Amino acid sequence: MVRLIHLIGAIILLFSYAYCGLSRLNEHDIEESYSHKRVKRQFERLGTKWSYGVVNYYYADKNNEIKEMVESAIAYIANHTCIRFNEDQNAVQRVQIRMQQNWLCQSTVGAPGMSMSKPIGELSMLVQSCDTIGSIVHEFSHSLGRFHEHTRPDRDNFMKVTTTVHEARPRPSGMTTMYGPFEHGSVMMYHADTYGPGTMDPLDMDYKQTMGNRRVTFYDMYKINQYYGCWCSKQLECKNGGYTSPSDCSRCNCPKGFFGNLCDERQQDSYELMAVNNLWQSITIPFAYKPEPGSDGFYSTFVYITGKANSTIEITLEGLQDVICTAGCTVNGVEIKFKEDSKITSPVVCCTDKPPYKNVFKSSHNPTIIELYSRTTLPSAVTFKYRFTNDKVVLG
Ligand SMILES: [Zn+2]
Repeated sequence: MVRLIHLIGAIILLFSYAYCGLSRLNEHDIEESYSHKRVKRQFERLGTKWSYGVVNYYYADKNNEIKEMVESAIAYIANHTCIRFNEDQNAVQRVQIRMQQNWLCQSTVGAPGMSMSKPIGELSMLVQSCDTIGSIVHEFSHSLGRFHEHTRPDRDNFMKVTTTVHEARPRPSGMTTMYGPFEHGSVMMYHADTYGPGTMDPLDMDYKQTMGNRRVTFYDMYKINQYYGCWCSKQLECKNGGYTSPSDCSRCNCPKGFFGNLCDERQQDSYELMAVNNLWQSITIPFAYKPEPGSDGFYSTFVYITGKANSTIEITLEGLQDVICTAGCTVNGVEIKFKEDSKITSPVVCCTDKPPYKNVFKSSHNPTIIELYSRTTLPSAVTFKYRFTNDKVVLG
């Protein structure tokens, strides 16, 4: 009898898969992980995309502080994608948000429902232990269909995973790949020591501290747009790698460090430095959190370093003041955007005794952007030196 039910289920799945043309989960699954001694569980089940890209939700209980973070996470996703959120307890496809009980931060992967033609059901999202807006964006990304970044099927090209825990195994293609590059700094990535020291190290150890960061990246939102087919009929001429925002087709979604409707502006009150020659110049720049509408809970101060045309800009760190060294640099940190793809997260620095603190960062970007981010009002500062050279960057 049980086999018969499984067979019927498999047939339904097969037809619904063909009908939807979607990437679908093909198994029931339970994930468990351990973080800060709190058990996190993540359930996967047969799911669909949210019908018409609308996430219906309601709150099952009260906690004003967490509710404010949930609303910020919702606003962040809505401002960068075509996903819409609708508070409706009676919708046929909905998420129940629980802010009390179960000291957890978890969500099902995939929207409720058995198929595109039957988007009916409710999933529970538990957010009591989600401590940042990014953590809640992480959970909503699960409910929208995204797996963890460290379980992408191509992850072994970027990481050396030695843990054998069930939940760290590679997941199916579909919603995990094809929608953008693997990113160590993704909001969907766990920190490298989650399952034990060194059991999920990046191949490029400069990225170790970056894993587990909870800023929401440009590609995190891009991947949701790709998965849900969010595009504007008229494309703007976005600059610097931006694309027309499916949230509002009159402006662009911009890579970090670029602003304005067309991503051709710099941050107001930013630091603009000129590397005048090949002699090192040194500077200390303060930074701290300040409230900003529409943010992911972090405030970033941007530094733009310009050098001679076609030169290489070199930057090396000399000191961090009141920057907190944590796995994932989760409070504040420094990101020198030297990677060839300026849209992807470069290695983040928050520890003076770990890579990539002592690196000489070489960048062919002119200007090269440094992002100083923080979610604490505690004043921090970074000291670094910079110059330009005529050496060409060797891309690795
Ligand atoms: Zn997760």
